Parts: sequence; structure tokens; C-alpha cells
Amino acid sequence: MSTNTNSGNLPDIQELQTLANQLFKAQPNEDIVLPEYNPYDATKPPVSVAGSGVSPSGIHHGNAVNLQDPQTGFNDPGLNASIQPVEQDLGRSFLPFELIPDSLFHLPFQQEQPFEKQLQQVLNGIVTTPNLPQIPLTGFGTDPAAYYFLKDKPAATLPGFDVNFIRKDFPILSENVNGKQLVWLDNAATTQKPRQVIDRISYFYEHENSNIHRAAHELAARATDAYEGARKKVQGFLNAGSVNEIIFTRGTTESINLVAKSWGEQYLHAGDEIIISHLEHHANIVPWQQLAAKKNLTIKVIPVDDDGQILLDEYVKRITPKTKLVSFTQVSNALGTVTPAAQIVQIAHSAGAKVLVDGAQSVSHMPVDVKSLDADWFVFSGHKVFGPTGIGVLYGKEELLNVTQPWQGGGNMIKDVTFEHTTYHNAPGRFEAGTGNIADAVGLGAAIDYVTRIGMGFIAQYEHFLLEYATGLLKQVPGLRLIGTAAEKASVLSFVLDGYKTEEVGAELNKQGIAVRSGHHCAQPILRRLGVESTVRPSLAFYNTCAEVDLLVKTLHGLKK
Ligand code: PMP
Repeated sequence: MSTNTNSGNLPDIQELQTLANQLFKAQPNEDIVLPEYNPYDATKPPVSVAGSGVSPSGIHHGNAVNLQDPQTGFNDPGLNASIQPVEQDLGRSFLPFELIPDSLFHLPFQQEQPFEKQLQQVLNGIVTTPNLPQIPLTGFGTDPAAYYFLKDKPAATLPGFDVNFIRKDFPILSENVNGKQLVWLDNAATTQKPRQVIDRISYFYEHENSNIHRAAHELAARATDAYEGARKKVQGFLNAGSVNEIIFTRGTTESINLVAKSWGEQYLHAGDEIIISHLEHHANIVPWQQLAAKKNLTIKVIPVDDDGQILLDEYVKRITPKTKLVSFTQVSNALGTVTPAAQIVQIAHSAGAKVLVDGAQSVSHMPVDVKSLDADWFVFSGHKVFGPTGIGVLYGKEELLNVTQPWQGGGNMIKDVTFEHTTYHNAPGRFEAGTGNIADAVGLGAAIDYVTRIGMGFIAQYEHFLLEYATGLLKQVPGLRLIGTAAEKASVLSFVLDGYKTEEVGAELNKQGIAVRSGHHCAQPILRRLGVESTVRPSLAFYNTCAEVDLLVKTLHGLKK
């Protein structure tokens, strides 16, 4: 069907009417009532998208869905002509792909305009019989057991998917660096941002900017809606029980410091023990060391084997009645090891200890469910999940948060202040003193919408495929030694190359436009455990391609010559 009846990309209302009549079984000679349709009028200020997290770029498309012209890279069955198995030119005609988003079309104002629901239903009806090519899942990753990071088995056949559509959402991926097109393989350090996130932040400053929670005027309401809407999105993303369990912080580092300086200060006492793992980022070592020095606590470390895998039996040996906290990463940023997080949490709880899980490297690569993980705190940074820098999240169990003292005092977090006494709000307010990073919280909401619509399960599968592909090729580069060879890994390929310093490799790759991190990755203890001071670390995201991996590998082969 064509929804394109004029140059403004507006849907053909008559056509929608006919479809609505069919779908909702209208009586003869009667129409199903479609609410009035108000396309975007560029001469008027757009209706607020406060709280919806919807990219305002959608507004400019008149709230219309033009099947021939996707505004995003989401799988679009109307584009049969463009659906190609990715990397077909390289002879790979299959792709792991788990999910088609529940709703293939996303409309602006969904929460604000009642007619959207009906229109959405009509549009969903249109795509119930897409003529998608079903691609058998063969080759890499055929063994469902390999998908240890997914709760459900991957689909046996997969609809077509074109990574190049997704890449169009990321303007920076078209950037030239040293005369070459950028190849961004530094995703473990930070991820690039889709247009939907960039636009959402601009929109906030153009139409909603105000301080929140404090004034009775329109913009304060819009900004508060947008900020609290973002909190709701984070809650859904993590499957937390309540929005009150989601605290906005500056990032992972601040979230861990918050727990150390509030709960740790209050509940840990001389002689108590904290267990961390050998894989930890400095952000999950230093705050505990500082607290240990101040309060005379003991820190114990779970060792890893030579592949960089947690030794669970050694962990169990380190637990004593004095263990009050276990704090560990779900995915190692230096090696990519996926830790047995649920088991570690369970064992800690059975010993009566609290658990913090560092999700900085996991949230962008695999579905996370804090309810089933059952950690007491879970932390991550917005910038690692395609959102802005300067915003992050501390998830905490609500009861625990409410019996924990605040770490910073000031505006926003109080119920009442006299010169003699102050009472605090419950979470999340009690941990959000002062004016927070409102616009970037809203941007994070848009990033969560973005990855959710693609599907975290799909992202995990696609990246797993890429990781296996890259690992296979890197192993063939003479003199290259992979650092971190755990059976269960995500996204990261750390290595050293005979005869080259890691920064030399980084500089050579940079000449080809390839961005990788070389250094200690803020995780010196684990690199030293594996006998190196630094590595070269390409790290993958769902917008990377096999062609980019090929270029990386080719450049490394060239270096060896
Ligand atoms: N933990 C891990 C596992 C990380 O990878 C990082 C970032 N490299 C951090 C913590 C710290 O994150 P941020 O700098 O965003 O606070």
C-alpha cells in the first residue's frame, strides 16, 4: 500500500479509513470513526513530546509513516527491495536476528493523543502479512547453547536485516578521519549516538527547558514530564519493580561512589569484608579501598583463570560471616568476560551479603533484568548505551534505598528544613540533591527507546556473531595474542601484537580511520594478572559490520609485513 499521497509524506486518510473499516469490521455504509488527524505544521510550535522520549524528528515527518522512506533503521517490511542479507558481498548470507519489534511503527505523541492508539492499530494491521525473506540461521552461532546471554533460544529463521539502515541513524559514522571513513571500534569506552538521541536533546532545549519539580508554569511541567518519563523508561529497560528504584547519577563511577558513601558509610564497620573480582574497573575498586582505609574494612578479590574467567569455587572460599558486600562487573571492560552474575548474586545472598553489579559494559550488549538478577544495586552509564555523557543510573531495591542515608544534601531531596532539623524524601529524591542533568536524562530515555525498538535480544545475537567472526580472523594474524579468551564474552577483543607497542598499533589503525583504545583501560589489576600492562582493544556495537572487522584485520596483517 502507498501511504504517500503528497510530498509531505502524509498518510492517505481514505486508505486508512478503508483499512480501519476492514480491520474493525465496520457495519455496511458506516465508517469506523478515525479521530481527527493533525499533521505537523512547521509554522506552529510542535506539540510537546514531553515524557514520550520520542524523537522530534518524527514530528517533522508529519506523524506519518512512509513505507518507502524509513526515518530510522528499524526493520521495515515495506522496503522489500532494500532488504538484503547483511554483508552479502562478502558471501555471508545469514544473520542472527531474534526479534521483530512488537510494533514496527512508532508514532510520536503516543501517550498524549488518544487517536494514536487507533492509528497504530491500523498501521500494525497493515504489516501483519509482510513478505519477509526468511533466512535460515546457519553458519556462525547455530548452536542455541552458544547464546548463554539470552533467556530464550534464538529464532531458527530470521527476517532480513540491513545494518546499513541502522548506521544511517548515526551521523558520526559518516565522518572522515585521516581521509578515511571512520570505523568506530571503541565502543567499550563510549558509544556513538543516534540522530534520535541528538534530536531529543535539542528538542528539550528548544521547547521544554526548565528546572523540574519546582514551578507551576508550563515549561516546568514539560521538563518534569520529560525527566520523569525518562526514569520510567529506565525502569522498563531494567525491569525494575518501581520508578522509585531508579536514581539518576553522573554515571557508573558516581553510582558506585554513591553506594559506598551512603550505604557503605552507614552500614559497614571495622572488620567487615568486601569481595570484588579481579576483573574490576578502577571505578569498582577505588571507592571500596577508600572506604576500607577509613573504616578498617578488608577487601578480598575473586581470582580468575588464565582465560579471564571467574573462579567460582575460589569465590565461595572467600565468603565468611563477615562478608557484607560483593561488588562485581557483569562484563569485563578490559577482556569482555561475561561473569556468572546470577550465581555470584545468589551465593552472596545466601551468605547474607548485599550485592552491587556493575552493568557499565553489559547494558548495551545483552538484555538485563534486575528482578531476576536480584542484585541489591545495579549501575550503568548512559554514554555506553548510545545515550549522552554525564548521565547514569543507580538501580537499588526500594526498601534498601529508603533505609539508606543520603550522601549529598541540598535542594530537591528534602521534605522539610528548619535550622534545627531536616527530613528527607524517600528514593529517588533523597539521592538526587540539587539540579540534575535533566536534558541528558531525557536523552538517555530516547537512547533506551532506540535500543528497545531494535530489541536487546537481537543486539546481543548480532554482536555475538560479529565477535565470533572477528575472533576467528584476529587469531590468524601472525604474532597477535588475544588477552581474555573466556568461553562467554561480549563485544571486546583485547590483544597484543609482537614487536609493537600497543599505542603504536593504535596509531597505525588511526591512520586508516579505525578508532580503538590502547592502554590499561582503567583495569590495571586484570591486565597485570594476564601478564601485560596494556592492550589494544577493539570493541564492537550493533552498528559495526563484518566489513569493518575485515579492514581492521587487513590493517593488522599489513603491519606484520
Ligand atoms: N565499570 C566498567 C566495567 C566500565 O567499563 C566503566 C567505563 N569504562 C566504568 C565502570 C566507569 O564508567 P564511567 O566512566 O562512565 O563512570
